[in-house]
Amino acid sequence: MSEISYAGLFHGNTSLLETTIPNLLALKSVKQGYRPTSETLELLRLFRLMVNDCIDIGLASDTTAMKRLSILSYGKLERYGGYSGYRLNAISKAAGILAARKKSIRRGYPTKTPALSKPLLVSSYGFKVEDGKLRFALKAGGFQLISLTPHTMRVLSEPNLRIRSFTLTQKSLSVCISKQALEVECEGTVGVDRNLRNLTVGNEHCVIQHNLSKTVKIAETTTRIIGSFRRDDVKVRRRLASKYGRRRRYRTQHLLHNVTKQIVTQALTRREAIVLETIEGIRRLYRRGNGQGRSYRRRMNGWSFGEAQRQIEYKARWVGLPVIRLSRSETKGTSVVCSQCGERLQEDKRLRRKLWCGKCRTMTDRDVVAAINLSQRGRLRFDRSRAHEGPQGGVVEAVKGNPTTTVLLRVDAPKPSQRKT
Ligand SMILES: [Zn+2]
Repeated sequence: MSEISYAGLFHGNTSLLETTIPNLLALKSVKQGYRPTSETLELLRLFRLMVNDCIDIGLASDTTAMKRLSILSYGKLERYGGYSGYRLNAISKAAGILAARKKSIRRGYPTKTPALSKPLLVSSYGFKVEDGKLRFALKAGGFQLISLTPHTMRVLSEPNLRIRSFTLTQKSLSVCISKQALEVECEGTVGVDRNLRNLTVGNEHCVIQHNLSKTVKIAETTTRIIGSFRRDDVKVRRRLASKYGRRRRYRTQHLLHNVTKQIVTQALTRREAIVLETIEGIRRLYRRGNGQGRSYRRRMNGWSFGEAQRQIEYKARWVGLPVIRLSRSETKGTSVVCSQCGERLQEDKRLRRKLWCGKCRTMTDRDVVAAINLSQRGRLRFDRSRAHEGPQGGVVEAVKGNPTTTVLLRVDAPKPSQRKT
């Protein structure tokens, strides 16, 4: 591992205010396990105390601003000793927690008194990656080493990376990296439509349907298991439920990783910008009183479309592929309007999920229609933002006027155990 040189790259001179990151900067993190020494554990414990001290100061003085919080608490943190850079990071972490709380309150969600509950260390200062190891400061002068796994090293060896920070918990190390990705010049768009059992991705030339019924099954099993708990103790029941919920999240996440990776890779090869519908308020779509059944609602809410979108977005960003997010009004009717002529489609009573266009006299799959429509509406926005000189009308005609036959491919999500290295 020692052949990779990181000279001068990894002195954590990151701005504490992460909001100043320019748009094209892509962030990601790589996580691995490690065995902490007693000194490391002590450091995590102290960091947690520092953060919680800052939170208390912030609450008492009703401030969430980084600058003011620093002035108020930096001096008080000195009693913890150790490396001074960690103090700034503790303040930054506390400011983040306080800001999140403020946001929740503003949105009307009840919040508990905030505190960091587990020992942790997040720092953008005082570390280095060297000879396959992470080296970080314990106190002035002293340091610790953590061996990086081959996977972590592989991720970190990508050119033009900057290591921004590292996070230690009692079990895991994650390293946050950033890259200034060059935006890929796109020739078209590809729409991503979510359904209960699949993700349909495509445009009028080709549509690929990724089968995700397994995520539905995972969610159903979890619900059944949690529902079968008969313990009287609410606390125990809640703890078990959260354990199974976590397990479900991991399994779904892994399954989605393979699919979203495929989607981004394919879009990149074809130079197509990815069009997503906005997920804001997606829960609102499936709740009581919307005329859907209880089990349907539960399944739709259990489907982590947000997770799929998050993965697609950060993977696309990482390779410089543009992502277009359509607003709720822009996506209106994407699954009921003919993508060729704009006519409202009729549902076929005998064939499920098939739609009939009376004008074009064609029968199309509902999911395919939605993906194509998303792609086309995304392209309108895309072209409008690119071609400043041309009027938008020309684009609409170009999209509508070329009936083509769409190729539909169906793929199964690969098994979670299959991991390509
Ligand atoms: Zn039509």
